[in-house]
Amino acid sequence: MREYQGKCEALHGHNWLVEVVVRASELDGIGIALDFVELKARLNEELDLLDHKYLNELTPFDKVNPTSENIARYLFERMAAKLKMTG
Ligand SMILES: [Zn+2]
Repeated sequence: MREYQGKCEALHGHNWLVEVVVRASELDGIGIALDFVELKARLNEELDLLDHKYLNELTPFDKVNPTSENIARYLFERMAAKLKMTG
């Protein structure tokens, strides 16, 4: 992490628990708002891009600090874009 003094300044790993909240205004013909299989697949695509990677070298974390807050925002934006495209 840049511009930060402390243990997290040095290269290290973290584990995160990612929770995705979805809201829909209507259901499809069989009563589903969003297929969990689809949701899980889209989320795993995103997580695979980050898992065991040096985040400081990945866009946008080469410019934005890879804090929990920024990673949550990044995942929110990516998932929102993906789910709109498929929905
Ligand atoms: Zn840390």
